[in-house]
Amino acid sequence: MSDMAMILDGKALAQTIQTEIAAQVEQLAVERGVRPGLAAVLVGDNPASQVYVRNKRKACTQVGMESWLHSLPADLPQAELIALVDALNLDPKVHGILVQLPLPPHIDEPAIIHHVAPLKDVDGFGPENLGLLTAGHPRYFPCTPLGVQQLLVRNQIPVEGRHVVIVGRSNIVGKPLALMLMQKAAGANATVTVCHSRSDNLAGLTRQADIVVMAIGQARFLRGDMVKPGAVVIDVGMNRVDGKLCGDVAFEEVEPIASAITPVPGGVGPMTIAMLLNNTLGACRLASC
Ligand code: NAP
Repeated sequence: MSDMAMILDGKALAQTIQTEIAAQVEQLAVERGVRPGLAAVLVGDNPASQVYVRNKRKACTQVGMESWLHSLPADLPQAELIALVDALNLDPKVHGILVQLPLPPHIDEPAIIHHVAPLKDVDGFGPENLGLLTAGHPRYFPCTPLGVQQLLVRNQIPVEGRHVVIVGRSNIVGKPLALMLMQKAAGANATVTVCHSRSDNLAGLTRQADIVVMAIGQARFLRGDMVKPGAVVIDVGMNRVDGKLCGDVAFEEVEPIASAITPVPGGVGPMTIAMLLNNTLGACRLASC
């Protein structure tokens, strides 16, 4: 057991990565005369989504990328959203398309995600990119899982051979992260267990983990007695409790037991944005080579 866990500072690391990306954006502009561009599509007025989109666009500007916001009313007919995605798919200035989720209930979310051109699907949620990842030939890694992996790798936390227990199996976090960390590749080669709301003896499973990743959206769910001494704890959760942001981990209880832990805020959140920029840069390179 360690007295003090290493705090995995996602905010600082995201800043470092964004500085690297900014240099590559300038190089691309000089060498090929192109500037990466991200089109953000926001439907409705969900306040959390508005904040996410604003932060993503701000980050684009900071690294010298173009960004456009398409802000649409909550009652937008699905056909009009499809028509907008069609137009963005064809626009050569747009390298990446970000459709902020969740979409209003009358819209068929998978239909929209599947409509984004695979080369512009910088969230990596569409079937082609997920299929490539599953087959072991990835194009774009989904941003939050990639942010988690980068937090581990760039803090020299070994993943290979270790038991990673992921709690949460969503299509945007748990499932793709499991696919990534089990890959035969650098920064991966882990033994992965994926848990969810139907898992028996969850605490027994998380206690076996060398690395626990929480991605369920339940405030302070992971308690001190659910973690093996010396484990690494990654908290993807973002929950609002009494107006304050907190993760899925009871930080004060778990931090003295863990060897390394991410804070919320300032952990995985900023890394997700940095990885979106990384993927948009990649999309621009693919489009201009
Ligand atoms: P989601 O789609 O709601 O999925 C939640 C997952 O957690 C499901 O697989 C669910 O199991 C499982 N789950 C829920 N309650 C559980 C419990 N008591 N025990 C075990 N498993 C449980 O959520 P998501 O979109 O993946 O997001 C998860 C959290 O991460 C949220 O707080 C979200 O805000 C946050 N998030 C953060 C970032 C970031 O950048 N930091 C990005 C994305 C999401 P079933 O499948 O059985 O229902």
